[in-house]
Amino acid sequence: MLVAVPAFAAQDGTLSIAVSNGAPAIGDPVIVEIAACRPVDNLVLRWKGVAWPMREAAPGRYEGLIGVDLEDREGPATVTAEGYVDGTMFRAEAELTISPREFPVQELTLPKEMAEFDNATLARIESEAAELSRRFSRVTPPRWRTPFLPPVEEYRPANFGARRVINGDPRMPHSAVDIRLPEGTPVRAIADGRIAFAGEQFFGGRSVVIDHGGGVFSVYYHLKEYVVAEGQDVTRGDRIGFVGATGRATGPHLHFGVRVPGGRVDPTRLLALPGR
Ligand SMILES: [Zn+2]
Repeated sequence: MLVAVPAFAAQDGTLSIAVSNGAPAIGDPVIVEIAACRPVDNLVLRWKGVAWPMREAAPGRYEGLIGVDLEDREGPATVTAEGYVDGTMFRAEAELTISPREFPVQELTLPKEMAEFDNATLARIESEAAELSRRFSRVTPPRWRTPFLPPVEEYRPANFGARRVINGDPRMPHSAVDIRLPEGTPVRAIADGRIAFAGEQFFGGRSVVIDHGGGVFSVYYHLKEYVVAEGQDVTRGDRIGFVGATGRATGPHLHFGVRVPGGRVDPTRLLALPGR
């Protein structure tokens, strides 16, 4: 589990940087904290070649959330904060060492009609994936804060990162957790945000995506029904729908995923980040 103490700090006199975990594993989220002695303008966090906005947690203290995608490689990586103080650009860097993590391999044998799709279905799958990635690419002001709330009262996650082999064919790794629960179990928002998607998808069935700002999103699939609409603001703990088995699901469960700047991370590790 992650610890709240800074694992690494670098200082150039104006900005100092600290991370919640200097040696994250593949699929881990990392909190980055910047402290400044004077107000900083246009502060961004550079991670994997992209700049992300940070949240002002307190005067002179800024927070960002980054992640190591479940398909990233182990090895060194650098996260950089950049901002302007009195018109001059300042930078602070932290070196991370990404450590390996083993994921289970799941071999599944499915009837042909559940594993192979006709051209019309393939076109639908592709356009739904493209539409979702368009929504994920929007960056809004950060509204998330730690600790995140588990999406259901009885949180029993399984399958994160499972490498799936269906009828002998390697498929995309499972980028979320599956939580088996009775149909109708209430599902709630893990943090404040805005509904970025509420609709029906081929794989996800009735699906909700919440934008928590700053590139942080949570995803809830196979709902029996959802009770929110796109564009609606939600508060941490608000009911968004009920567990079901819509879309490609073999039984009632919640498929719950999280995306942060840098990729898809293990939701259980996100929920373990301490509040501050
Ligand atoms: Zn799933």
